[in-house]
Amino acid sequence: MGSISKSDNVFITTVYAMVAILDLNAIPRSQVMAPSKEWMQLVDNRLDKAYSIGVQKFLDYAFRRTGELYEVRCPCVKCCNTTSGTRETVESHLKVYGIIQNYTFWYHHGEILGEPQSDCELIAHCRRLLEKEHMQIDIPLPPSTDQDVGSCNTEKVKKVRGRNKCKEVASLEFGQKLKVTFYNNRTVGKNSNLFSRNLGKLVRDRNLCPLGVSSWHDIKEEQLNHMWAAVKDKFESDDMDIHRNHILGWMKELWNKWRGQLHAKYVKGKPVQEALKNMPKGIDKKQWEWLVTKHFSTESFQARSNRNASNRAKLKMPHHIGSKPIREIIYQKGGKDGKPPDLATIFFETRKKNNTLVDSETIEKHAQIQELVQSEPFLPSIEIVEKCFGPQIRSHVFGFGGGVKAKDLKRGTSSKAELRSELCSTREENQSLKDRLSTIENDVKELKQLKELLLAQHSNVQPLTLLISGE
Ligand SMILES: [Zn+2]
Repeated sequence: MGSISKSDNVFITTVYAMVAILDLNAIPRSQVMAPSKEWMQLVDNRLDKAYSIGVQKFLDYAFRRTGELYEVRCPCVKCCNTTSGTRETVESHLKVYGIIQNYTFWYHHGEILGEPQSDCELIAHCRRLLEKEHMQIDIPLPPSTDQDVGSCNTEKVKKVRGRNKCKEVASLEFGQKLKVTFYNNRTVGKNSNLFSRNLGKLVRDRNLCPLGVSSWHDIKEEQLNHMWAAVKDKFESDDMDIHRNHILGWMKELWNKWRGQLHAKYVKGKPVQEALKNMPKGIDKKQWEWLVTKHFSTESFQARSNRNASNRAKLKMPHHIGSKPIREIIYQKGGKDGKPPDLATIFFETRKKNNTLVDSETIEKHAQIQELVQSEPFLPSIEIVEKCFGPQIRSHVFGFGGGVKAKDLKRGTSSKAELRSELCSTREENQSLKDRLSTIENDVKELKQLKELLLAQHSNVQPLTLLISGE
């Protein structure tokens, strides 16, 4: 006995009615749902009408969600989201070259993780449900904009960033992710370089990471979640979520570094008008104007910039020589098996040239560390570092590489502040969940009202073929 009741059918009809009356222009930007992505699987069959419709819906969504008026990034296999183009250009690229198969989370085009899929998905679901019940009814596809396949348009697209850099990540197969290993709060080993390079790319993405804010702390939790989702879209690890805050901290560093570079290259020592005109590629004009006129000129920015410069000058001994990150060396030299090398070994390994230490200052320092390590084998590493290099107050502890802070090594001393910050982010998360819940509740309310409305109509008019009696 089929279990689909009359009211279920009315509900399905209601969903259709809603889709039919949805006026996209009346919906605020943030509430445009991501359209169905099933069309993407027709990439080898691009003349299929469903693919063409999918492209149109994607473009509608992308322009609405990003708020861009003229151009959006092109997710075709040639551009890999590194170049932008007009609606016509992107449309023709998607039809001629096809969309990247693994670009299923449209974060370059404003999609947010956990966003509800469009009603078309819901209808597809209803249809499958009905088919399962062996109901012999013909449900037409929901109405959609029918478009002809446009002619191939080879108009030039504007270059945003080097395309080779994204290739390895962008050419992943559908749903495929790169595996990464975490050590000392960051990645090591295979894919680690790709991972860090990808982070650098994400923080420079105008649709993902805001630039027009005073500091990283001004970025909203929702946007951080969005960035984190973009990271997880391409990479995986058994303990990925444990490292969320570390990775976001890493992104913060990359973001700050990049802003410093932008300042040094385009703004420092130049007249404001010139800096405004000399806008780096791929950056939002408004955000750039804000950065130049409101941020880079502030006293706090100037003070920080000078402080960083003087700290760099004061740093007598480089953290390491060579291109391999210290973290990688520690991992390979025993960290992998839970037996990280002592500080004397780390110092030697990160500073050797042809397997020996060269300059006298380095040799002296190495001897000092070695003596400490041998005479007090149970002395915590952080104390050895501070005895040899002075108090570690900057973001990175000498000899440990990025990602390890003094507080990580000094157990308990700053746990209160950490707990407070954790509590704070939990609260923010709660609030965002509450907001979403209330949106959903409102939607359900509207659906119910529509359902009643339709029921009332049906009681007057002869039921549609859809309506089936309870027996
Ligand atoms: Zn393209």
